Order: sequence, then C-alpha cells, then structure tokens
Amino acid sequence: MTNPSPAIETNIRALGLLSGGLDSTLAARLLMEQGIEVACVNFHTGFCIQSHTGAIRNPKVGASPPRHDALHAAKTLGVKLHMVDISSDYVRIVTNPKHGYGKNLNPCLDCKIFMVAKAWEMAQKLGYHFIFSGEVLGQRPMSQRRDTFPVIDREAGVKGWLLRPLTALRMPETEPERRGWVDRNRLEGFSGRGRKPQMALAKKFALKDYPSPAGGCCFLTDENYTRKLRDLWAYRDNRDYSMDDILLLKAGRHIRPRPHFKLMIGRDQAENQFLSGFRKGRVVIQTVNLAGPLTLMEGDTSSPEDRLLACRIAARYSKGKDMDKVQLKVEHAGVSEIVEVSPLPAHELPDHWHV
Ligand code: SF4
Repeated sequence: MTNPSPAIETNIRALGLLSGGLDSTLAARLLMEQGIEVACVNFHTGFCIQSHTGAIRNPKVGASPPRHDALHAAKTLGVKLHMVDISSDYVRIVTNPKHGYGKNLNPCLDCKIFMVAKAWEMAQKLGYHFIFSGEVLGQRPMSQRRDTFPVIDREAGVKGWLLRPLTALRMPETEPERRGWVDRNRLEGFSGRGRKPQMALAKKFALKDYPSPAGGCCFLTDENYTRKLRDLWAYRDNRDYSMDDILLLKAGRHIRPRPHFKLMIGRDQAENQFLSGFRKGRVVIQTVNLAGPLTLMEGDTSSPEDRLLACRIAARYSKGKDMDKVQLKVEHAGVSEIVEVSPLPAHELPDHWHV
C-alpha cells in the first residue's frame, strides 16, 4: 500500500457496506490506499443466498466448506466487519416497497435506502466520519442509476456523507472530499455494466480470489424463489411472512394440489434433513421401507382425502413410484400412523400444481 497523501488528514474513519463482491472490496481498498481507517458492515436480510445454501445443499466430496464472501473479503482486506441482522425490520421493505420491485420481487431501491440509512446510523453511533459503498453508476438497472443515487442519498438522510469511490469522478463532490479527508484525484470514475476496469484494479491490488458477479447474492432476484413467495402470499391473502416461511421456500420441490394446502418434498438427503427441522405444525410424510423424500404438508391439512392425496404424491417421488402400493408413515396432530397408498401416476400430477 502506498503512503497517504500528505495533504489528507489522518485518523479519518470510514464505514463501508460490504457484500464481499469485487466492487465493495475495491471501494474499501481504494480508501485504505489513502490511509483512511476502514471498517465494514454486512447486513443479513433473511434472503441472502450464501447464508443458507451451505445448510441446504449436499456437500460435494472433498469440497471445502462454503465461504461467506463478506467475511472472506474483510479478512483479505484486514478490516473489521460488523455483521448485522436486519431481517425483522426488512419485512416491510419486501412486503411494501415504496419504489416497487425490479424484475422479480427485488425491492432494490428501497433495500439500498434502508441499508444506507442503517449504515449511516451505525457510523454516527460508532464514530466513523462517513460511509461508502461499492456502487457503480449504470451497473444495476434499478438502484445504480444517475437518477436513483440522489434518491438513495436523500431518503436515507445521508446526503453528502455517502462516498462511492469507484464512480466518484462521475458524481458531485461529497463531504469527505470537500473537507480534504479523501483525495478525489485518487478515486475512480467507473460506469456501466462492464467489469474490465474493476478487474484491472483488482490486478493492481493483487486481489485474486473474488466471487463472480454472475453468482447472485439475493433470493429476491431469483425467479424460482420469487414464484414461490408470490404463491405463498396469494394463498394466504396477505404479504406477511415468518423467517420459517422464507427459509422453507429455499428448499425442496413445492407442489400445491389444492389452494388450501401445499407440499414441500425434499430432493436429496440434505434437503430432507433441512425440511425435517420444520416438522412442527405440519403433516410429515415419510416412506417406511423404501428410500424416499421427506414431505411436509402445510395449510389446511384437516381433510383425510387431502392427506391421502399428499401421501400419493409423496409416494410418486419415492423409489416405489412404479409399485402398486407404497407404505408411508404419516405424522399428523401428534399422531403417527402407517398408511399404504398407490403412487400418483405422472399424468395425474399436472404441471400447474408445481409452484
Ligand atoms: S439484490 Fe437484494 S440485497 Fe441487493 S439491493 Fe436488491 S433487494 Fe437488496
């Protein structure tokens, strides 16, 4: 790292929003180059892909454990990382975003405003002079635009105190630049969706092991996930959700044979194990002498006919799908019973049942 410019004041502390992607890592690194003391914050919304895939997916033989990008980036940078769970306050952002959704159920603009406001609140409480992010003008269609940056700054109440080091030369001067804490000449003017300038800067800083931008970090941008969330809201007739709800949408095959109930069927051992943690309050169906999935039935499960249909569907996804009869253990309302059913044939399981 080069020495800070002599003209720049020392002991300036900045708090950055760190996803662990290349942009936020570079933004932190650029400021560290100027001798600024950097710490970072990573927010857990409940929809972060990384927080859960490790818990749900079958580990590959010999693979290293899944890594948390923000933790990894903070370690690489050698900075302190605050990890903050905002999931309960975040519900209102997802259910009722003032600025609407993106392509899926991603309320990116409201989400950014919320996170920036939280980071600024933390910065003031913890004695940081300003905050920064890795945003780049024109990189994301919903939140990283010339007309949305001022909205974020204004609605987060941070006007002038949020620096975007990677795109700063295309933006009006911020307070830290005006006050001489940050040398604007040593910031960047990146724009657009291309990644070449970032990759060149990463090379300059010898940053190698960064995640691919295509990796995605948020379930709310995922089409399959948001289809399940819409289904949940539609059949409940309101947009509330619990942590269990949003976790369960991340695993299994989801089938809704009737409007009033839904099945969640594990697709492998890891998903079966994951679903098993959510038995409480749901009907649990498992094969007895054959390999098969763990199935959860939720909603109005009071009808024996509906439970029988659920069992026939569960049997269809077991090793006994071509047999005449399959035995299943059904746990319902504290009672466990063994039932024998014929697996539902493929032609009786219409596509539109799949959520
Ligand atoms: S992708 Fe998800 S985490 Fe990122 S800004 Fe959009 S809603 Fe927020």
